[in-house]
Amino acid sequence: MLLPAERERIVHFGKKMATAGLTAGSGGNLSIVDRQKGQVAISPSGIDYFETRPADVVITDLQGSVVDGTRKPSSELFFHLALYAAREDIGAVVHTHSTYATTLACLNWELPPIHYMIGLSGLKVPLAPYATYGTRSLARNITNSIGDNNAVLLANHGLVAVGRTLPSAFDCAEEIEFVARIYCQARMLGKPVVLTEEEMQKVIDKFTRHGQ
Ligand SMILES: [Zn+2]
Repeated sequence: MLLPAERERIVHFGKKMATAGLTAGSGGNLSIVDRQKGQVAISPSGIDYFETRPADVVITDLQGSVVDGTRKPSSELFFHLALYAAREDIGAVVHTHSTYATTLACLNWELPPIHYMIGLSGLKVPLAPYATYGTRSLARNITNSIGDNNAVLLANHGLVAVGRTLPSAFDCAEEIEFVARIYCQARMLGKPVVLTEEEMQKVIDKFTRHGQ
């Protein structure tokens, strides 16, 4: 079985994604790349996170051909591969349909820096234009919009977070959902105060220096 440790991690963080309330049912997906081997471990399509076993995780090459596994890879394989091609600095991708990030995505809004934890993404969380799920157009919209950020909202769909490792991509998805929730609530009560770029730069420097 190829990439056994990565398979275990995909199963573990899939369950975490469900218990953290970041997704419902089998929505969302996650992957890890091994750049030396040129292989990607990705969650299977349509299997409940609590039913998924390491053997169900699918291994593909960087072009998306299945090299190990009997299941179908996640329907969003295209954008996982496109992100690995576009961003040499990342090793994992997490995609969620978490409630508050998706609320903003359905308004076609970006998430501005109203809380310093957005620094896990960067200066903001940009918005990728809508395209049908599972398509190369959606993959293109995501890679065009994410820039150097570690998170991007998908219009009328959800959130994608990336990181050097699966734990860091997961943390980013979880914290961005928190900031999205605070933003939605703050907008209901008044006009949220946006942090300056200078202040956000200090936070990003601290995150980079001390690790996340
Ligand atoms: Zn999705």
